[in-house]
Amino acid sequence: MKIELDLERFDNFLENKRWPFLISGPCSAETEEQMLSTAKELRKIEKVSAFRAGIWKPRTRPGSFEGVGEIGLKWLQLVKQETGFRTATEVASAAHVELCLKYDVDVLWVGARSSANPFSVQEIADAVRGTDIIVLVKNPINPDLQLWIGALERINKAGIKKLGAIHRGFSAYGENVFRNPPLWSLPIELKRLCPALPIICDPSHITGNRDLIPFMAQKALDLNMDGLMIESHIQPSVALSDAHQQITPLILSKLISDLVLRDPHLPNDKRSELDELRSQIDEIDETIIQKISERMKISQKIGELKHNMNVTVLQVSRWQQILEGRIALGKAMGLSGEFMEQYLDAIHQESIRIQEDILNKL
Ligand code: PEP
Ligand code: MN
Repeated sequence: MKIELDLERFDNFLENKRWPFLISGPCSAETEEQMLSTAKELRKIEKVSAFRAGIWKPRTRPGSFEGVGEIGLKWLQLVKQETGFRTATEVASAAHVELCLKYDVDVLWVGARSSANPFSVQEIADAVRGTDIIVLVKNPINPDLQLWIGALERINKAGIKKLGAIHRGFSAYGENVFRNPPLWSLPIELKRLCPALPIICDPSHITGNRDLIPFMAQKALDLNMDGLMIESHIQPSVALSDAHQQITPLILSKLISDLVLRDPHLPNDKRSELDELRSQIDEIDETIIQKISERMKISQKIGELKHNMNVTVLQVSRWQQILEGRIALGKAMGLSGEFMEQYLDAIHQESIRIQEDILNKL
């Protein structure tokens, strides 16, 4: 992953003397009064760095509120004049970018639906080329890290160095307690690949439920995310979009003061104890991998034998026997049945793959 950043200016720009970054404001701009009253209340919260509002809303079904359009940018500009907030909004096309530049918006973000579409991202990238604007890229709605990275790279290649990512969770099939489950391994892997890239967590869109936002915000900070984007509305119950997940500025203020900022570094005296425990884990993992590989080699021999005897790769009764016995053994040793099933299933898939490979080669 090749990303060139110039974050010093990004930090100064968001006045980020007070880690983490906090961006707040309504899901959607609705009226001038709603924008100004929300912003004035938010201004009382010292830690909020920028004011967000959606101007064009990407709705799942047509017919719901689709945003106020250009007039909302005028209100955003008014917010900036009256409160001094940096302003932020979502763009989905070159025309949106041009209008945002006209109304002096400070931060643009690429929404989750757009970042799933390289054509849209490229159009936005071409439109921001030559400007010095901050761009944040939300994760695509589907859990595809390469797509997220690709979107960041496209914007970066257009010369945008004040770049960040927003983690807003991923669409899930079926019932889930979260609107967009966080799948933390993806933002964590992004951080591992590009440690300098700021990642801002959006607990509003992850949870879709205002009661769960404090929990998710704390979790994000505990996982070293660099900031939060939280939707707020002067009167959430009558909001025209995402009413369930918006909170009042007053509640936001309490949420922020309850957040615990933990030190990502361990004190020196604890380090050697931790290193020791980690090296034990490393050794055990090496042994497990070694043993699994030995097991697979035996599977391979069984595969050859089965082929010579002309029997099928899978014998259901043998598999059933393994499942029952091993699950009982795992449970007796304190492992959950669910974990044992997933583990055995993975082992089984791999061993079938190896045995089928033999058949294909013969
Ligand atoms: C939003 O921030 O209001 C929004 C529509 O977000 P997302 O692209 O994450 O759905
Ligand atoms: Mn929203």
